Amino acid sequence: ATPTAIMVGTGRGAELGVLIRSAEALEATREVRTIVLDKTGTLTTGTMAVESVTVLDDARRAEVLALAAAVERGSEHPIARAVLDAAEADDAAAGRLRALTATETTAQAGAGVRAQVDDGAAVRAVEVRRADETDALPRRLADAVAAAGRTGSTVCTVLVDGVVSGVIALGDTVRPETPAALDALRALGIRPVLATGDSPAAARAVAAELGIEEVHARVTPEDKLHLVETLQREGTGQVAMAGDGINDTAALARADLGIAMGSGTDAAMASGDIVASDGSIASVPTAIRLARATLRTIR
Ligand code: ADP
Ligand code: MG
Repeated sequence: ATPTAIMVGTGRGAELGVLIRSAEALEATREVRTIVLDKTGTLTTGTMAVESVTVLDDARRAEVLALAAAVERGSEHPIARAVLDAAEADDAAAGRLRALTATETTAQAGAGVRAQVDDGAAVRAVEVRRADETDALPRRLADAVAAAGRTGSTVCTVLVDGVVSGVIALGDTVRPETPAALDALRALGIRPVLATGDSPAAARAVAAELGIEEVHARVTPEDKLHLVETLQREGTGQVAMAGDGINDTAALARADLGIAMGSGTDAAMASGDIVASDGSIASVPTAIRLARATLRTIR
C-alpha cells in the first residue's frame, strides 16, 4: 500500500466515523470470512439496567446493593454503571453508599470485581461476579439465577466476606442497528460468531434474536483469543474481531482485523486496528467495505 492511498482511505474513514489505526490491517480485509463478535457493548447497547435484586434476608437488601455499588465504582464494565445507578435510585441504598469507601479494588476481566469495603465501623471483603451454574446457592438465590436465565438476563452474585448474600439480574438490549449490520456483513460473505463471557442463556437469547448460529458463552479473555486463533488455523479466510472491553483486548490484537467500539474501554481502543469512533456496530461493515475499496485504489 502506498502512503497516499492509505491517507485517502484514512480521510474517508474519518468522515464515515471509522478511525484507521493500522494501515497493515487494511491488507487483511481482503479475505475476512469470519467475524468474532463480543455481545455486551458490541451487539447490545451496553447500557445495562438492573432488573431485580434478590437477597437472602429482605432487611439487608439496601446494604447488599450499596456494598455491590461501592465495589463497582472501580470497574469499567457496563454492569458497574447499572449497579451504581440502581443503588443511587434507591434512597436507602444511596444513603448507605455515601458512607462506603472501597480500597484494594481488583477487576478480573470477564469475571467480576472485588474490593475491601469500609463503612466507617467495619471492613468487609466484597465481590460481585458472574453467577455460575455450578455455584451452590441457597434455594431463594438459586431460584433468582434460574429465573434470570429463562429470560436471557445477565446474572451476578454478591459475596460479602465469602458468603453469597445476593443476586443481581441485569438486562441489556440489542442495538437497533445490529440486525442490519449483520445482514451487511453476511452480504460481504462474512460469517458472524458470537463470543461472550456471559452465560449460555444470555448468549442464546441474543444469538436467537440475531440469527447467529455459532455461539461461545462463558468464555474468558484467553478463550476469546484462542477462538480467534482456532478460526485462523481452520484456514477458511482471515478473521476479524469486534469488541469493546478489557476482556476483548487480546483477541482484538490477534485478529487479522481488530475493530474496537469507540464507546468502549481505552484498552480495547488501543488494541484495535480500526476504531468505530461513533461506537456503532453499523461502522463494522462500513469499515470493511472502506478497506476493500481503499485496497482496490492501491492495487
Ligand atoms: P462480554 O463478553 O459479554 O462483554 P465480559 O466478558 O465482560 O462479558 O463479562 C463476563 C461476565 O463476567 C459478565 O456477564 C458478568 O457476569 C461478569 N462480570 C464482568 N465484569 C463484571 C463486573 N464489573 N461486575 C459484575 N460482574 C462482572
Ligand atoms: Mg463487551
